[in-house]
Amino acid sequence: MTTIFISDLHLDKDRPKVIRYFVDFLNNLESDIESLYILGDFVEYWVGDDDPGDGLEEVFSSIKKKSNDIPIYFMHGNRDFMISEKFCNHHGMKFLTDPTKIKLHGKKILLMHGDTLCIDDIEYQKFRTMVRSPLWQNEMLKKSLEERINLAKMLRAKSLSETGAKDEVIMDVNNDEVISQLKKYNVDMIIHGHTHRPNIHKIISENKECKRIVLGDWYDKSFILRISDGEIIIDKSNLS
Ligand code: MN
Repeated sequence: MTTIFISDLHLDKDRPKVIRYFVDFLNNLESDIESLYILGDFVEYWVGDDDPGDGLEEVFSSIKKKSNDIPIYFMHGNRDFMISEKFCNHHGMKFLTDPTKIKLHGKKILLMHGDTLCIDDIEYQKFRTMVRSPLWQNEMLKKSLEERINLAKMLRAKSLSETGAKDEVIMDVNNDEVISQLKKYNVDMIIHGHTHRPNIHKIISENKECKRIVLGDWYDKSFILRISDGEIIIDKSNLS
């Protein structure tokens, strides 16, 4: 049996090829798939449960359909943290808090979106604390749908311009933080996305070899991590 992990699809109506690829992938999942984990930034932005999800109708309806066969788990990223647990349940997804520890084939694995590991980006961490507070979110939800969509677009543009100016190292994970999370949760492996730097890192923590698997984004290629008993397979396909 195989478990699948994906993140950072950034689904958006302006990139219909990615939407098409994801829907086909989901509809044609092999029969040995046990469960699917979506570890954040599934959609490019989300402003609340009344978000019309333009162009994403088929995405959510195929998720709902597939959830009759296998469990589909959803964790927030920094783009889609306004997707509520209620919305998830309604669309057949099981909501996961960040981080969540799972056991798979005898391995203890910590699942995260990954942004909480980037502690050197102090400015971002401050912003994250603000937007994840119930107070900020309640105030946000009082605004009209149009205002929220405009705000989300503004924040996206701001983040893009800041990302270009920031040091590469600052925006990556902090290694001490990785080790501290491995110890805190007593796990053998961390799987996360967010940094768009796909890799399998080996880390020695307390004389034990641990792994940090970083999922890739779905900008030019799809990125699917499959874990079955003793096997880690990464599938990438061109989207264009
Ligand atoms: Mn992210």
